[in-house]
Parts: sequence; C-alpha cells; structure tokens
Amino acid sequence: MAVPLLAADPHSCARPAEAAVRHLSLDLTVDFASRSLHGTATWQLDVQPGATDLWLDTRGLAIEAVTLADGATLTHFELGDDDPVLGRPLRIHVRPGEEQISIRYRTAPDAAALQWLSPEQTAGKQYPFLFTQSQAILARTWIPCQDSPGIRFTYDATVRGPQELLALMSAENPQALSATGEYRFRMPQPIPAYLMALAVGDLRFEALSPRTGVYAEPVTLPVATAEFGDLEPMVAAAEELYGPYRWERYDLLVLPPSFPFGGMENPRLTFVTPTILAGDRSLTSLVAHELAHSWSGNLVTNATWNDFWLNEGFTVYFERRIMERLYGRSYADMLQVLGQTGLHHTIDELGKESIDTHLHLNLAGRDPDEGLNEIAYEKGNYLLLTLESIVGREKLDAFITKYFAEHAFQSMDTAHFVAYLRRELLDRVPGAEEKLQLDKWINAPGIPAVAPPVQSERFASVEAALQSWRHGVAPAALDTAAWSSHEWVHFLHGLPEHISAEQLQQLDQAFGFTQSGNAEILTAWLPLAVRAGYHAADAALAEFLTRVGRRKFLVPLYKALLATPEGTARAREIYQRARPNYHAVSTSTLDTLVGKPAGA
Ligand SMILES: [Zn+2]
Repeated sequence: MAVPLLAADPHSCARPAEAAVRHLSLDLTVDFASRSLHGTATWQLDVQPGATDLWLDTRGLAIEAVTLADGATLTHFELGDDDPVLGRPLRIHVRPGEEQISIRYRTAPDAAALQWLSPEQTAGKQYPFLFTQSQAILARTWIPCQDSPGIRFTYDATVRGPQELLALMSAENPQALSATGEYRFRMPQPIPAYLMALAVGDLRFEALSPRTGVYAEPVTLPVATAEFGDLEPMVAAAEELYGPYRWERYDLLVLPPSFPFGGMENPRLTFVTPTILAGDRSLTSLVAHELAHSWSGNLVTNATWNDFWLNEGFTVYFERRIMERLYGRSYADMLQVLGQTGLHHTIDELGKESIDTHLHLNLAGRDPDEGLNEIAYEKGNYLLLTLESIVGREKLDAFITKYFAEHAFQSMDTAHFVAYLRRELLDRVPGAEEKLQLDKWINAPGIPAVAPPVQSERFASVEAALQSWRHGVAPAALDTAAWSSHEWVHFLHGLPEHISAEQLQQLDQAFGFTQSGNAEILTAWLPLAVRAGYHAADAALAEFLTRVGRRKFLVPLYKALLATPEGTARAREIYQRARPNYHAVSTSTLDTLVGKPAGA
C-alpha cells in the first residue's frame, strides 16, 4: 500500500525519507541527586539507499558518544545551532545499510520534560518523585529522537532508580516494587515520541478490573480507587462506540499536584492530575477524555502540531459520547455547554478574525505549546456535532469507526483527513458538504453560522436560580439541592462581572465556595473574588496557586490578579514562591504572563 506523503513538520529536524527510526532500546539511570537521567538510547533504523545522515532532535542533552551496531565503533556526529524552542539538531553520519546506532548521553538538570520533585512536593512527603511530560516537543529534552508526531517507533527500556521507588512508563508496567530498583519495559505498539513517558516515585498499584487499575502514592491510592470506580465501564463504553481498545491494559497514574495538565494520554498509562479527585466522581470526564485518546491521537495521530485538532476535536466529541453512554444525555449536554463557554471565551481573547481560531493552524516558527488552545478541542468538537446534526449519528459513528480502523498506528494531516471525509461521508449524503461548510471550519476564523445551538436541560434550573438571585432572592433560598459541580460552575459563570464583595460574601456564606475542594468550582469562583476585592478568599487563592500546578487553572487566576496594580504585586509575590512547584510547561507560559522572578 502506498503511504500518503504527509505535510512536513516545522518542529522537527528529522528527515525520515532519508533515515527513519524504527525501534528504541533505552537504558537509563535515574539520579535524583544530580537531577539527571543518563545512559544510552539505541535506535534501530531504516536507512534509504544514498542517505548519508540520520537527523535527530535534541534539546539540552549532553551527547557523550555515538557508536555503531557493534557497540564499540565510534561514529562521527555533529550538534547544530541551538534554537530556544527546537533545540539542537543531532546529525549522525550513517552508511547505507546501517541498522543501529547507540547514543550515550545525559539530560540537563533543567530539562523541560522532566519535573524533579522534592519529598515535600509529594502527597506522602517522604520520597522524591520524577515525572515526564513530553507533549508537544519536549521528548527531545530527555531522549535524542525524531521528535515529530508523524514518526512512530516501538520501544523497550531498562530503568534504574532508588530501590524504594517504583518506575512506570507508557508501556507494559510492573505492578509491584522490584528488589533492586531496576525495571524493564516493553512497548510493542509503535508510538510517536511525544507519547514517551516515565514516572518514578513512591507508588502502589490497585486493580479495578482485569485490564484496568490505578497507580498512586500510598496516601492517595484509596481516594483514587474510589474516584475511578467507573473506569472499566468507561473502557467498555468506548469500545462499543468506536471499536476495540488496541493497547491491552488501561491504567491511570495519579501524579502530585504540580502536574501541568489535567491528564496526559500516555499509552497504557494515562497520567492524571489529583485535582480531579473531587470525592464525588464529578470530574472524571477528564479520564473519559484521556481514554478516548487511545483511539484519536494515540492510534490515529496528528501528523504535525498544525493538525492538533484531529487529535483533540475527535477526543472531546468521543469523551462526551462516553459520558452520555454512562450518565445520560442530560449529563453530556452540561459538558457541551461548559465547553462552549470556554470556546467563546477563547475566541474573544484571540480575536474574532485571528488565524489561530482556524482549525488548521500555522505554528511554524512558534513554540507549538503556545499555539494550542481550546480551538482545537471545542471548535473541533463543534464541527463533529454539526456533522452529526447533518448526516445523523448512525452514519457519523460508522464513519468514525472506519476512520480509526483504517488508519490505526498511522498519522493523519488535515488535507488527507478532509479528502477522506469527503470520499467516505460527505459525497455520499446529498447536500451535506454545502450545509457543513467544511472549508470555513478548517480555514476560516470563528464559528460558521451553520453550527446548531448547544443547550442543556439541567442548566435551566441554574438560569432560574440566577434569575431569582438577580431579583433579590437570598442565596440560601435558591433551589440548588440537586446540583452537581457542573451546575455550580455554570452558576458562577453566570454571575455578573461587576458583582460586589458584599454579594460575594452572601453567596460564600450560603454555599461555601472559598472552602470548596473542587478545583473547577474554585477556578470559577476565585477570579470573581479577586475582581470584587473580596479578601476573605485571599488565603485560599494563595494556597491553591502554591499547591496546584495545572496550567488551565493557573492562567485565569493569575490573569485575574494581573488586572489591577494591587493584584499584580500579589501575583508576582505568589508566583515567586509557587514557581519551583510548577512544571516547565506552566512556567514557560507564566514567565511571559507574570514575569520571570529575579534569580529564577
Ligand atoms: Zn486531549
């Protein structure tokens, strides 16, 4: 079968048409004292006739030696100029027919993918912790690799760490401590570099079903096991929707609070933030999202970060279909409305005509991480919802199932997807293409007028409560008894922008927002408090910002503070203290927003 020629990746120096990586054998020692990984990356290669060089991405890596298949013969290599975002290309001379090279290297203490936590920064406070975050282009800060989502490889690994800690990867994982601190891993399904993942910490495992389970620090494990009780039904629902789960096991790893994202869909082992441990399973749509990536993203992968919407738009749509199957349409509709609120907010922030609101992005010359936002997620999902309203669910589901099956373990760019969608679906439904206005979704700003309105029945009671409150009904007298955290978040979004500190105090007294253990509620509440000068929430805000490192929460809170001179001073003071607890993914955003503290 001819492989389609995909769009070139502006964020990688790799030239896979000359020499491509096929399999990685990683041998790493984890050194908490020097905050570095060191060892060798051995690559199996496909070198084309006439090719003379293998090009790998690196950033901040100290390359000590490169040897040929015999493991002894040194070969020539060169590191190119250093780019602050892309790093340094590593060019290794290869001969025709060369099948293997080994690179001995060491990571830098400030390697952007790696977060080294002191014992105080963990839940248990006794042992250090290491975790990686490779997406979008940070795998190159801990492995010399072809760091492009369009290039896949299988891997095996040996990892040596402190004897009392468990090591886990995006691979077949151990379920118990080894006696020596050495672990072996095997990943037989080919993945792109951004799905390489490693965590080392005081971790334990508990099974939820024969193929699912949770890893967490011992103090967190019981809470996590209770919160994720619906994991197996989620996997089953996903399979019923769009075909078999292709990665054998599906486990979760609950990280310390400094994890910069909600979740990261590392194959076989989703990394999740503890901020979704709400105690009532109300925030587990995030797990449905990461699980859905086992199809959209991990199985069929965006070819470059410009095509990110193919990963995220499908995943949001899929996530809400899973939630609908588990908890009903009215539940999923709430998630759709909350997603729309975020989408409109993002479009307002970027500007209605911004090219960054196109689904197909142009991120060349930029850090892809800075260009990836709600548009890929929610506008992508909205395109699929619109498509569903035009062709019907049955046809759309058949299309998606076939799309995943026919492109499993391959990459997809926007142009090839559009052609496939036309051929397999739009051309077969008279008038569908015209109604959908596909090109406007992909290559024009904002939301095409054809998009159907998104509504939630359950939010009607929130609108009614807001209406009563505006007419002077006391907060305690509002009918809120049946609300989940989603209703509460929608309620907070519906409060007027210029609400007084006194009004906030009354609401707080009735509903205890400042004391909420739910991170989504706090993130909707605290900006209101900052804007109104409601100082009773100051301590909770400072505590939240120093404990939690999830960027989605940090950005709106710091932005609210930065809106006033007094708040700006507080933002800087808090950031200086909190910054050591944040991952580089978060600090690179916040250094721009708040300003890098002196001496950091
Ligand atoms: Zn996602």
